[in-house]
Amino acid sequence: MTTDCIFCKILAGTIPAKKIYEDDDVIAFNDIKPMAKVHFLIVPKLHVEGLKACDISHQNLLGKMLLLAPKLAAEQGLVGFKTLINTGREGGQEVFHIHVHVFGGGVA
Ligand code: AMP
Ligand code: ZN
Repeated sequence: MTTDCIFCKILAGTIPAKKIYEDDDVIAFNDIKPMAKVHFLIVPKLHVEGLKACDISHQNLLGKMLLLAPKLAAEQGLVGFKTLINTGREGGQEVFHIHVHVFGGGVA
């Protein structure tokens, strides 16, 4: 838990989010500014800034997040979908708690 991190606050329940999945390691919730009809974020419970902060110790967690994408996308009614991981401010990252965007289903 990092106190000034918006996703840690969602994990702690101090900021609301439309949760679509949760287990011991990850949570998934709808993006507040959807880029498509369906747009959710897969977020680890562990606060890791981004892909550049990951090492071999995060391998299982990263794999788990990616494998959840098709499962949750199907549950959300998506036949096909896009995935996106922004890394670094120059890479478009705005929230520095690693997350996988999953979106599809046409224009929001
Ligand atoms: P990124 O640019 O990859 O860091 O993406 C951050 C994403 O988090 C953006 O798509 C935001 O719309 C989304 N976001 C920011 N705050 C919230 C929030 N409180 N609940 C849900 N999604 C959020
Ligand atoms: Zn965090």
